[in-house]
Amino acid sequence: MVFALVVAVSGISCFAIRQMLLYRYESGAADQQIAKMKNHCAVLGDQMSTANYLQKPISDVIDARLSQLSDVYDGRILVIDSEFRIMKDTFDAQTGKTIVSQDVIECFKGSGTSRYDRQYHYIEITTPIMGRYEDTPYVAGVLLISSSAAHIKETLDDMSLKANILTALIMVLVTVAAAYASYGFSLPLKRLTDRVNALAEGTDFGETGLRSYTETARLSEAVDRLKNRVSEQENSKSEFIANVSHELKTPLTSMKILADSLLAEEDAPIETYKEFMGDIAGEIERESALVNDLLELVRTEKDSSEMNVASENINALTERVLTTLRPIAEKNNVDLVLESLRPVTAEVDADKLAVALTNLVENAIKYNKKEGWVHVSVNSDHRYFYIAVADSGIGIPSEDTGRVFERFYRGDKSHSSAINGTGLGLAIAKNVVTEHRGVIKVISEEGVGTTFTVRIPLKYVP
Ligand code: ADP
Repeated sequence: MVFALVVAVSGISCFAIRQMLLYRYESGAADQQIAKMKNHCAVLGDQMSTANYLQKPISDVIDARLSQLSDVYDGRILVIDSEFRIMKDTFDAQTGKTIVSQDVIECFKGSGTSRYDRQYHYIEITTPIMGRYEDTPYVAGVLLISSSAAHIKETLDDMSLKANILTALIMVLVTVAAAYASYGFSLPLKRLTDRVNALAEGTDFGETGLRSYTETARLSEAVDRLKNRVSEQENSKSEFIANVSHELKTPLTSMKILADSLLAEEDAPIETYKEFMGDIAGEIERESALVNDLLELVRTEKDSSEMNVASENINALTERVLTTLRPIAEKNNVDLVLESLRPVTAEVDADKLAVALTNLVENAIKYNKKEGWVHVSVNSDHRYFYIAVADSGIGIPSEDTGRVFERFYRGDKSHSSAINGTGLGLAIAKNVVTEHRGVIKVISEEGVGTTFTVRIPLKYVP
């Protein structure tokens, strides 16, 4: 396709340049001859006026000059009087006849004319022959020379032939160059296509490594980047599945050990049964919390088209979340406070945002100290609303603050202090905030407390 386009454009350009050059040569050559003829005519016209040739057409000098000029220009000269009669014809063919042509009429008005006929290649010039009546000059006759421009045509034909040969040569060169370039260009493209197909089929063969053209090199790099991204995603998927399996297996293993040891003990007292069954119930609860969080995570990781967006009162929504968590806060002896700095209405998915807030506030209660506090504030400006969840808790070590949003990440203290959790709460919260085109950040100091801040646009952008 590109090949045909290059050849066509070059062909058209060559033809246009050829036509333009030939046209300019022809016009230039014709103008030159017209100028020369005009000069000669003017001199002869003057001589005729002086010799009063129109009244007495007997002058050897002028006759000689007429036949000389007609030889020089390989043409014909007519002398026409005021009656439009041909007084003299160097071809002796039409003497005495009348001639009425546009050019002659024009010339009788006072100014000479000149014309080049491109079709038949001849030049025609008229010049007035002046007379005097009581000292007033008037046009007494017309001198008309028509000359062959055969030499212009010959040169033109010659040039045209040379131009054709040159055009043909250029076209051969362009065709060869275009064929070479398009082959050189289509080869890397074909290899890239094979590569992408191999990627799609899962039978990839490493780096493409096409560096022949800047464009294909860039495309090749883009394909390599895409490939790396796909393999990164696949690795993270496998890692996720491994983590999920591990997390789901842990409570099952504990339950199996508990059940086995009960079965192994003959005539175990009812108290032991009760104690073990209590532990098993705890493990079931852990397993079910994990499954719930996993479902929530998947729900928030799906495409944003799943968003159920509506205009919501954010203060009321936050208040509802705090109300459900207040019993846990009281159980943990933690003071839970809401500060609504401004009434805020925003376009959000209320259910999802409630889940994210619940996770943040629940963490703030869970990872707190005795007699601690949790402070939740709601604020906004003209573009965003802000929710900050601050606590007086155990804090997060500075090296871990970057990892808390990872799936299944649990801080060391959370494990050792036996605080229940799945390591998915913050990953879910981050997904929700991102789906709302917002940002979530954390600032924390170990032993002092942690603040999570959420910033979400007031208007939802799909
Ligand atoms: P988890 O189920 O363990 O709470 P999250 O994803 O909610 O999982 O949190 C991940 C980890 O981040 C927690 O295990 C904890 O170490 C840390 N973390 C989260 N919130 C807080 C907080 N408010 N104060 C201290 N540490 C926190």
